[in-house]
Amino acid sequence: MTTAAEHTGRAGQDLASREEAVMLPTYRRAPVTFAAGAGCRLFDSDGAGYLDFVSGLAVTALGHAHPEVADAVAAQARRLVHTSNLYYTEPQVRLAERLQDTLGWPEAKVFLCNSGAEANEAAVKLTRRHGKTTHEDKVGVVALEGGFHGRTLATLALTGNPAKHTPFEPLGEWVTHVPRDDPTALEAAVDDSTCAVWVEVVQGEGGVHPVPDEVLTAARAACDRVGAVLVADEVQTGVGRLGSWYGWQGCPVTPDVVCLAKALANGLPVGAMVAQGPAAKAFGPGDHATTFGGGPVIAEAANTVLDVISRDELVPRAAELGADLEARLRRLVGTSELAEGLRGAGLLQALTLAEPVAGTVAAAALDRGLVVNAVAPDAIRLAPPLVATEAELDEAAALLAGAMEAPEVATARQI
Ligand SMILES: *Cc1c(COP(=O)(O)O)cnc(C)c1O
Repeated sequence: MTTAAEHTGRAGQDLASREEAVMLPTYRRAPVTFAAGAGCRLFDSDGAGYLDFVSGLAVTALGHAHPEVADAVAAQARRLVHTSNLYYTEPQVRLAERLQDTLGWPEAKVFLCNSGAEANEAAVKLTRRHGKTTHEDKVGVVALEGGFHGRTLATLALTGNPAKHTPFEPLGEWVTHVPRDDPTALEAAVDDSTCAVWVEVVQGEGGVHPVPDEVLTAARAACDRVGAVLVADEVQTGVGRLGSWYGWQGCPVTPDVVCLAKALANGLPVGAMVAQGPAAKAFGPGDHATTFGGGPVIAEAANTVLDVISRDELVPRAAELGADLEARLRRLVGTSELAEGLRGAGLLQALTLAEPVAGTVAAAALDRGLVVNAVAPDAIRLAPPLVATEAELDEAAALLAGAMEAPEVATARQI
């Protein structure tokens, strides 16, 4: 059998130049081609191993090529892949039941989709529809500066990063952003035209910034004052990563809507919006839909993920490992001149640097066999799988220490 590349005479070119010839250049990729994975390890096309401490952006919480997820996917693929949402399929109902149970929301209602942006997009429509039941202009949203909610037009508008907005404006006037650490500003921004307030409990893409409890409390109070919906975007923090099933469960407030995605199917594309209370009644038939969302294969993958997390008690394990990771990072702060501090929660941590050389440190780490990412110019994100071991934490800390001492890092720091 000839491959497409052989057929077109492209086989001799390296993948980067083939990609450049055919793909829109939306990604700045690291110079590595991953070809396989197992547990916390990735293997490149030459067979070299890497310790994956970013988990495909907080996605592969059970590690790569998890055998039970693979078996569930294969078995369901042989049984039934797709019917559309015109018909009942059992795996998606079971998934929604599992979400209710793990959230502890017996009355909650679920919409299943394919990504984090889609979960947030669904929540925009739900909360707007709900707001309009009060009055026609109750469509405003208050969100936090530094928040990240997706790249579609509506979720980009929610995202609190003006530089990402500018090239795509106009995005409409329906979102007001307030600082992530100012409860008074948040309270003041919420008025009768507000249908929802959007928060992450830890801002992931925004740089791994925990949102203070006072801000979450103010958001809850402001929503209650005006009859708005509190939306927790838990796409990155949900499904165990912070040491609770969902990040809000470790906070002093309960949201009305939770958006999930990343880790829910351990790498297969899934999203979920879960709503409780009056907003959960806002959608009727035809108000929202998706062709693929909640399909049997993805739902079986997600069901297996939730089963394995429960059975193997990975939620408390994540809390334990998070504390262990924190201790190791704290040691780095004590021993490395470049490591300045840390922030985060559970297994979502950032090591902050005294200088804006995180990109160079992440590249040096990759060279040494450790996958981490520069989540800000001066911060390295660590989001290891929930199945990491203490020995792997030690290995990662040692590799990161080595990366910070790399000659190219010294050059970038001009020392
Ligand atoms: C990643 C992320 C999203 C977007 O998810 P996609 O699957 O990339 O659309 C939304 N919100 C948060 C908090 C995220 O971390």
